[in-house]
Formats: sequence, C-alpha cells, structure tokens
Amino acid sequence: MGPVLNGLVKLQSVENRLRAEKAKLSRCRRNVVIQENLIRSLQNALEAKKEEIQLTRVQFDRLELELKSRDEMIGKLRASLNIAKTNKEYAAVLTQLNTTKADNSKIEAQSLELLKDMEVDEAECKDIQGQMDEQKETLEQTRKESEALADKYQIEIDKIQAEWDQVAQTIPTEAIDTFKRVAETYDGQAAATIEQQESGKGAYSCGGCFMAITAESVNMLMTKDEIIRCPNCTRILVLGDSHES
Ligand SMILES: [Zn+2]
Repeated sequence: MGPVLNGLVKLQSVENRLRAEKAKLSRCRRNVVIQENLIRSLQNALEAKKEEIQLTRVQFDRLELELKSRDEMIGKLRASLNIAKTNKEYAAVLTQLNTTKADNSKIEAQSLELLKDMEVDEAECKDIQGQMDEQKETLEQTRKESEALADKYQIEIDKIQAEWDQVAQTIPTEAIDTFKRVAETYDGQAAATIEQQESGKGAYSCGGCFMAITAESVNMLMTKDEIIRCPNCTRILVLGDSHES
C-alpha cells in the first residue's frame, strides 16, 4: 500500500471517531425528544378525558332537565288525584303517578351513575396533570443537561471534522468520493481490513463481509497503491499491520 491507501486507512479511523461523536450528539438530543413525546401523549390523554367529562355532563344535564319536567308532571298528577271524580279515574291517575315515580327513580339512579363517572374522570385528569407537571420538570432538567452535552459534543465534532478534512486533503478526490459513497452505504465503514485465516496459507477474507479475497488482490495491495474493492460488498480493501509492505 502507498500514500493513498494508507491515507484512507487513517481517514477511516478519523471517520469512526467522527461517527461515534455524532451518534453521542443525536442520542443526547433524542432523550429530549422522547420526553417531549411523553408529555405530548399525556396532554392528549388529558384532553380526551376532559372531552369525555364534557360529554357526560351534557348527558347529565339532559337527565336533570327531564327529571325536572317529570317532577312537574308528578305535581299535576297529584292534583288530578285530589279532584278525581270516580274510583276508576282515581285508579288510572294513581297508576300513572306510580309509573312516573318509578321512571323517575330510574333516571335519578342513572344521573347518579353519571356523577360518579365524572368524579372518577376528574380524579384521573388530576392524576394526568400531576404526571405532566412532573414530566415537564424532568424535561427542563434533561434539556439543560443535553444542551450542555450537545455543546461539548459539537466542539469535539468540529475538531474531528477539521482533522478529517486535513487527512482528506492528502488523498486524491476520486478516492475520497469512493470512500464517502461506501461509507454512506455501510454506516461509516468504507475501508475493510483483509483478514488471513490462521489455518492454511493464502486464505484471505474481507473484514467487512467475510467473503473470500484472492491472493492476487492481496499481492496487488502489497505492491501497488490502487483502490481494490471487495467484489462482494464493495468496501475498499486495505491490509492490516501484519501485511504492511
Ligand atoms: Zn466484503
């Protein structure tokens, strides 16, 4: 290998550090996003609960109104009972009065049920609100911490990026373009070191995909400074320290 391939080996090690640092940055930002999402889902749950309470209240109000008009009806029936002229008329009014009363207690029981539901829902709202307040405090804390960390990571990233650019300047543009393309495909792993099996001479494989590499390719790498890519995974093949010529 010559200056180009050795340069790519160096670039790979800088690339690895750069990606690792960028991963730290996005992890620390992700923590904030996760907590923001948590608060948003609590907010949604709270709104849904409140809407439920509102619907129950509408139902409750409707029943109350019905009860009121039924109470008036009972008053009227009682009055008719007093002025009933015949036994038959009295009995008929009495039956109607009793039925209305029975219906009223059913409706009262229903509206009591609704009141209980509303109380349960109100308690749940309070609980969710409490969770939200707590979560918001945690978020503020996390945000502060992650902003400080992000600044630190960014400084490190800029430093490594400068190093990357410096190394890249020593390598022909074409080789850099190839490196970048393969790096995009393999999450930063553009260069793969050729590995030699312990058993049997001349058994070589790509360190990226573990497919066999010919001895011819290894010889080429030892004697020349040209990019040879793995025929299987297309990574840029390089030699490890034991092969350095
Ligand atoms: Zn490969």
